[in-house]
Amino acid sequence: MGFSKLKIPRVCEHCSKPFEAKTVITRFCSVSCANKAGKERKKLEKEQKEKETLLKKYSNKIAEVQTREFISIAEAKVMYGISKDTLHRLIKRGIISSVNLGVRLTRVKRSDLDAMFTEVKVPYQKEKIQEENEFEVGNCYTLSEVSQKYNANPSTVSGIIRKNNIPKKKVGSFVYVPKKRIDEIFDGK
Ligand SMILES: [Zn+2]
Repeated sequence: MGFSKLKIPRVCEHCSKPFEAKTVITRFCSVSCANKAGKERKKLEKEQKEKETLLKKYSNKIAEVQTREFISIAEAKVMYGISKDTLHRLIKRGIISSVNLGVRLTRVKRSDLDAMFTEVKVPYQKEKIQEENEFEVGNCYTLSEVSQKYNANPSTVSGIIRKNNIPKKKVGSFVYVPKKRIDEIFDGK
């Protein structure tokens, strides 16, 4: 009988008050604390669930947006990290296409935005470098060299160069043309 009177020193998990527990599994100092703790736990669980639902909804929304050809300004802002002002500027400059379905109902073409971000400047630079190389010593002919090599008179050579938009470079009294392009055209004939 004396055993039932055993008290276990504890700290309430809800109000942090020290108390004497009646059993080893008692966690709260009072029924009221136990109830409050239960309510709090339920609230947390509910919040967690709501967060998960929201997250799921959001990822569904992103997935859905990614299948749509036209998206709203707000969606574009989130997806591409571009400000509203910038988006409107891009529309104005014709860089991205848009349709206006009414006030605050502008829709922008997603593929235009994608293209903006996938545009690679490297090929352009490569082309430029290639063009510069074309005029390096040893990579070009003078016009008279072309005439000699291909046994064509200068006016024919000039005409062919003009017709094929072959780049020329004038250095002093000499006009240089890229060997590669000339050989392609004259050898091809
Ligand atoms: Zn308590």
